[in-house]
Amino acid sequence: MTGLSSWITRRAVRTPDALALVDATTGASSTYAQMAATCARRAAALRTRGVRRGDRVMVIGLNSTAQLETLFAAARLGAITVPVNFRLSPDEIAYLISDSTPTLLLHDDMFAELAAGAADAAPHHVDLVHLDALDEPEAAFGDEEPVRDDDVALIMYTSGTTGKPKGAMLTHGNLEANAVNILTAGEGLTPKDSTLAVAPLFHIGGLALYVLPMLFTGGAVVVAPAFDPAGTLQLLAKHRITVHFMVPAMWDAMSKVPDFDDADLSALRCLLCGGAPCPLPVIDFYQDKGLTFMEGFGMTELSPAAAILEAQYVRSHAGSVGRAVPLSDVRIVDGDDREVLAGEVGELLISGPNVFVGYWGLPAVTAQEKRGGWFHTGDLARMDEDGFITLVDRKKDMIVTGGENVYPIEVEQVLYTHPDVDDAAVIGLPDETWGEGVTAVIALREGASTTAEDLITYCRERIAHFKSPRRVEFVDVLPRNATGKLLKRDLRERYGSSASAVTR
Ligand code: ATP
Ligand code: MG
Repeated sequence: MTGLSSWITRRAVRTPDALALVDATTGASSTYAQMAATCARRAAALRTRGVRRGDRVMVIGLNSTAQLETLFAAARLGAITVPVNFRLSPDEIAYLISDSTPTLLLHDDMFAELAAGAADAAPHHVDLVHLDALDEPEAAFGDEEPVRDDDVALIMYTSGTTGKPKGAMLTHGNLEANAVNILTAGEGLTPKDSTLAVAPLFHIGGLALYVLPMLFTGGAVVVAPAFDPAGTLQLLAKHRITVHFMVPAMWDAMSKVPDFDDADLSALRCLLCGGAPCPLPVIDFYQDKGLTFMEGFGMTELSPAAAILEAQYVRSHAGSVGRAVPLSDVRIVDGDDREVLAGEVGELLISGPNVFVGYWGLPAVTAQEKRGGWFHTGDLARMDEDGFITLVDRKKDMIVTGGENVYPIEVEQVLYTHPDVDDAAVIGLPDETWGEGVTAVIALREGASTTAEDLITYCRERIAHFKSPRRVEFVDVLPRNATGKLLKRDLRERYGSSASAVTR
């Protein structure tokens, strides 16, 4: 087998004239035969620039067909693609350069300056190459390098929510296993389907929920450079897209487009949301339009799909992320890795062919998180007798106060219902009496005058006293990373040593 590259070359033989890629901006499209030829040419261009088997090729840019072609071109050489988030600062990207030591840093027009700044700041030398420069017509084609299932195809950095981003090494076999999961879970996927690549391709969700599985099965991928709510809605209608993935914030924003109902979405047979909890009103909005809306749980380390909540359960099992994908097994365990009873909270473990091989350069962390043959997700969850999984919180964020476990998300959800609260983060801070004290960091809506006392009382009226905040701090905005996820570690650092504002 020859991994990712063979997906395209085999399609080029079986369905050469089927549509593979469409550029939503220019309308330019390529069939599988044309895409295979482009990938071969780009592979030759990469080789001319020194890329060999096992080398890393870092890519930074808006979503583009060139990025996808380059991923398959690098795979053809047995090289490893490292997609990078363009919302990171030059210093953050410099860290990723020194961590993954790529041979090349590929960039588009938009991020030429960012790439150059990052390359300058990095201790490791990297050649800067424009993505378009890989389209040289004169480059001689080379054969596909044979690759094995366990050869690494991608280093995908995690979102960096709980610490520095870690480079999850995903193999050709991992990505094929994910494709099989997507093809067989929920509403499935066939060569007649099409999807819109609008969630960023530098996150595994944007790349591997629908986009890569679509190219595996021989369907069409329309690529949009970036998300804008009205534009995305138009593209879904115009290209008669059949299946589509986005994160909750994108589904939410699109639901607010004026004249939503003017868009003809009659081809759209399945919507998938994942990466963070999806608010019920957003789900209701799409289901009320008669659309099939599914939720999924995924992680970079899991290539990424691990559980899917099929449309028929979205309301009856609201709050659950569904059941394990076909090729994965799930377990919920206590602190000693012993399985807990159905319905009890513990750490979520996953096994299966979609589980990453390890973190780049971090063998000890990898061994720890994959101990006993199960990947320890770091997420706390419970599973009912029918296998439905409900995420509770991240293990690192759980608070132990007076011997009781408090899951911050539960407290945040209460705070969100307060009309004056715009945003809320609940963290545990060292406390002499209680071990940890529940602390709420709150951004109030403009003009609001609610006090710390008010919020504490509000919580105590709705949840147990031990779960309610003992201390409340006010901020203008909460710190979030480039993905929009809350950076609780920053808050713990900021408030960890300072005196309490309100203590009871
Ligand atoms: P890092 O590992 O660097 O701290 P991260 O875990 O946020 O960052 P990702 O791999 O992008 O990086 O995100 C995976 C995490 O996102 C999961 O572990 C889980 O906590 C959360 N998540 C994913 N899907 C869902 C979902 N449907 N509902 C709630 N949370 C989700
Ligand atoms: Mg993580």
